[in-house]
Amino acid sequence: MNKKTVADIDVAAKKVLVRVDFNVPLSSKDPNDNITVTDDMRIQAALPTINYLLEHGAALILCSHLGRPKSADDIQFSMNPIAERLSELLDRPVMKLDQVVGDEVSTAVNAMQPGDIILLENTRFEAGEKKNDALLSRQLAALADVYVNDAFGTAHRAHASTEGVAHGVRLKGGDVVAGFLIEKELQALGTAVSNPPHPYIAIMGGAKISDKIKLIENLLHTADKILIGGGMANTFLKAQGRIIGKSLVEDDALPEAERLMKMAGSRIVLPVDVVVADEFSADSLADIVPVWGIANHKMALDIGPDTLDLFNQELQGAQLVIWNGPMGVFEFEQFAQATNGLATLLARLVDHGVQVMIGGGDSAAAVRKAGLADKMTHISTGGGASLELLEGKTLPGIAVLDNN
Ligand code: ADP
Ligand code: MG
Repeated sequence: MNKKTVADIDVAAKKVLVRVDFNVPLSSKDPNDNITVTDDMRIQAALPTINYLLEHGAALILCSHLGRPKSADDIQFSMNPIAERLSELLDRPVMKLDQVVGDEVSTAVNAMQPGDIILLENTRFEAGEKKNDALLSRQLAALADVYVNDAFGTAHRAHASTEGVAHGVRLKGGDVVAGFLIEKELQALGTAVSNPPHPYIAIMGGAKISDKIKLIENLLHTADKILIGGGMANTFLKAQGRIIGKSLVEDDALPEAERLMKMAGSRIVLPVDVVVADEFSADSLADIVPVWGIANHKMALDIGPDTLDLFNQELQGAQLVIWNGPMGVFEFEQFAQATNGLATLLARLVDHGVQVMIGGGDSAAAVRKAGLADKMTHISTGGGASLELLEGKTLPGIAVLDNN
């Protein structure tokens, strides 16, 4: 990685502003409830950087966005439950402030000692956050001697707390570096982008192809094969002239699907059978049919067992596998079989030394639900950010950091 990290700089007795990704699921949307964190995976993922900085004598000012508040009045998106959980995980006090910037914050930051931890309020309570507003960026930068970005999940956004602030801290002569989570993500996904071992197989699925056309196109330059399942396979099948009944399809994307298949030749591998049902529901009667046998009143909600076998054969001998997008509607148990089956196949490949990386929020959730998260080489914490990185895009929250 060509970016400086916290390990490259001196942080002793410095005030360090760390942009973390504490955008975690909460137990309730009702501000009158006792809202708690229901999955602290993202808080845990920030701990290596936080602990390192504390051990090296820094005072920490942490900030993150949480959910999609419309204004600072949306107090169900307050960072209070996160401060509580973080304090439990670190086993030390976390001072939660009710502002992002302002007098309360300046006063508290001025009084900080090494080892102190402040958590600012939800950055999106400030209207300037998403606009990458210059004033908000300067106000944030004024708090700190050093800026650390460890929020991989929002690194594809140029917001005040992920991008603008970095320029402000640099102008003051401060270091602007990556945390360990961003370092880990770049190392893992960077392998796939710039220097993949071959054979390199990409597996794509999920709901929509239009979101991922750029990614598929980029993968055609780097990967040896692309195995396609999930809802996105329907659009490819239809572009081949198949009848797909009531299946989810994006007619607008048919020309793109055709173009990609022409580019790819036999390097794109499509399903040979699917699991169909009459309607989109958990208990509709499921049936396995070949892709040439989808009736007009049926919809494909999973790929079939022969397709999983075919994918398994394609994966033999692979050195690197990237997986993005579930193979079916995994939220319904009876359409989760191929997704779970694939996760099991991939876990076995890891045991044989293959590198397997998972990107995408739902894909990560599916692998966790299957109980196989620990088995994978890498599961990205960033949905959109991991996709943009694999697309070959530069992420603004990373581009702004000091080069090594
Ligand atoms: P990720 O978050 O991993 O990038 P996506 O958001 O693109 O994945 O897609 C996940 C969604 O795709 C899931 O909600 C799943 O139900 C849906 N999906 C997968 N296969 C199908 C299908 N055949 N028909 C409809 N929806 C599907
Ligand atoms: Mg998703």
